[in-house]
Amino acid sequence: MSESDQIYMDHHATTPVDRRVVDFMLPFFSDEFGNAASKDHEFGARAEQAVKSAREQIADAIGAEPKEIIFTSGATESNNIALVGTAEAKGIQGGHIITAATEHKAILDPASYLENRGIDVTYLGVDSYGLVDPDDVRTVIRDDTILVSIMAANNEIGTIAPIEEIGAVCRENGVLFHTDATQFIGYCEFDVEAMNVDLVSFTAHKLYGPKGVGALYVRWDPKQVKLGPVIRGGGHERGYRSGTLNVPGIVGFGKAIELAEEMKNRESERLRSLTHRLWDGLTAELGSDVLHLNGHAEQRIPNNLNISIEGVDASALLMQLPGVALATGSACTSATVEPSHVIQAISGGSKDRAFSAIRFGLGRGNTVKEVETVVDRIADSVSRLQRVA
Ligand SMILES: *Cc1c(COP(=O)(O)O)cnc(C)c1O
Repeated sequence: MSESDQIYMDHHATTPVDRRVVDFMLPFFSDEFGNAASKDHEFGARAEQAVKSAREQIADAIGAEPKEIIFTSGATESNNIALVGTAEAKGIQGGHIITAATEHKAILDPASYLENRGIDVTYLGVDSYGLVDPDDVRTVIRDDTILVSIMAANNEIGTIAPIEEIGAVCRENGVLFHTDATQFIGYCEFDVEAMNVDLVSFTAHKLYGPKGVGALYVRWDPKQVKLGPVIRGGGHERGYRSGTLNVPGIVGFGKAIELAEEMKNRESERLRSLTHRLWDGLTAELGSDVLHLNGHAEQRIPNNLNISIEGVDASALLMQLPGVALATGSACTSATVEPSHVIQAISGGSKDRAFSAIRFGLGRGNTVKEVETVVDRIADSVSRLQRVA
């Protein structure tokens, strides 16, 4: 099978770097190789200028000020700085953090690390669509709550959280609010003021930029929003994240987010129509009695569809579909055979539902024809598996 026959529908895991982004990055590996922190010559000044422009593009995309953008190596690091850094600023002497059971491992792991260090963590449950109830946040906030962290859009089921409302609850109670907006930014309108957020994580490689570069938005409010350093060194990035800046990556991130913003409305509409076509096609072929939608029908990012087919093991199904790149459960936990914690959280702990879950993550390269091909091939494979069973 040649590369061109392959169909990639796993854009929640990563996206290809847009050619225009590659071209924009290239000079910064060689001719424009300066260290953005070198103050004594033109090489440094030009690199610093390039980083400054990227910082402006990224800040612009989320309604922030350039000085509120901290560059990191990706959303995992941004999440770690948000959680561990907030706890560090308070000296890790007790305290309480609120998050949700359906978060990415890059939130759940640092949260559990902090639990081991003596911080209480409340993991809120979600409803059958994967939604966190803002009233639940209000109910569990305590006097010693230092942070609420709820993701903007779920990376498995695509459900969009009521971020504005949760942020408003945090504001009322004077508690910092962090959101992992990795799957949201670049697809839906995100504005740090409207969303009532203090800290936001996101990453370039989920929006057609390079891997290994991300950002943490830190609200400019030095009295209220304080983070202890997680990576110590030369004091780069307001001291939150020391280390020589990844200039080519940052420049690529800036270009990628600029392009994503330009394309957002049209592309999101196209992706929404493709995911609808996928769902309608699968429903017509398989019947609505065996097909379950995982997540929310409307309140979801446009490029996501997550389904469970009753009685069909997702890994067995994907083995029947060489050349189609899809994910079972969560790609990030695929090193282990644990059933998806997200699907279990929305289905009352159903392992069957989790083991039969398939995630489609559509992207810029996907076409109507590819969607039709995938529907046909899944229908064939399911009937083959059902005959064997
Ligand atoms: C991909 C992803 C991450 C991790 O981002 P990296 O840049 O790869 O570290 C974190 N959170 C969510 C929701 C993601 O989808």
